[in-house]
Amino acid sequence: MQQNSISDNYKSILSGLPEGVLLVAVSKTRTDAEIGEAVAAGCRDFGENKAQELCRKYESFPDVRWHFIGHLQKNKIRSLVGKACLIHSVDSIELALEINKRAAGLGLVQDILIQVNAAGETQKSGISPEEARKLYFEICRTCPNVKVAGLMQIAPEADDPEDVRVYFKEVADLFKELGLDILSMGMSSDYKVAVEEGANCVRIGSAIFGKRDYSRMI
Ligand SMILES: *Cc1c(COP(=O)(O)O)cnc(C)c1O
Repeated sequence: MQQNSISDNYKSILSGLPEGVLLVAVSKTRTDAEIGEAVAAGCRDFGENKAQELCRKYESFPDVRWHFIGHLQKNKIRSLVGKACLIHSVDSIELALEINKRAAGLGLVQDILIQVNAAGETQKSGISPEEARKLYFEICRTCPNVKVAGLMQIAPEADDPEDVRVYFKEVADLFKELGLDILSMGMSSDYKVAVEEGANCVRIGSAIFGKRDYSRMI
């Protein structure tokens, strides 16, 4: 069976999203040619989970927005600040302070999201909603060069996305309570449920580009 084109996939997902929901095409492991197809279809927001890969693709495509969505390490922050339009995965004050230091040095304010892990999955990054609330106020108090634009969550893997609706709802409640701008939740398998619960930014990889081949990872 022939696969749909990247362009068709992108346009069909976009047309199914409500007005005001940002579609971030997750391009980890994808080639410049594949990214070029998405750009030609109108995509201007791409997500990467490795700092080195984001920086390389930023050089190839400087006119689109690059979102950092991966596990954040302190020693990679230097290379990301100013290049990533949004860092989705901040889950400690140490990371926020490091971003703040680098952003101050460059004379800019870095937009970030706090990564929440409402299901408490130990193998994943992210903190509980209660810890996220505290971290939000601590960053506001101590990091003038960091702007917390919103919250991000990676829901547990589930055969039925209805099973994770409760986690989307929990993070959406905190998002509303704090009055933030960006709620980044939902991937290929569960984005419809995430959007129903209030996500206004979805991160979609395989439903646009096809199945990932990790042997191509740099
Ligand atoms: C890979 C990845 C995605 C996209 O996953 P798909 O299932 O391919 O849509 C979204 N968010 C994060 C944080 C990812 O690492």
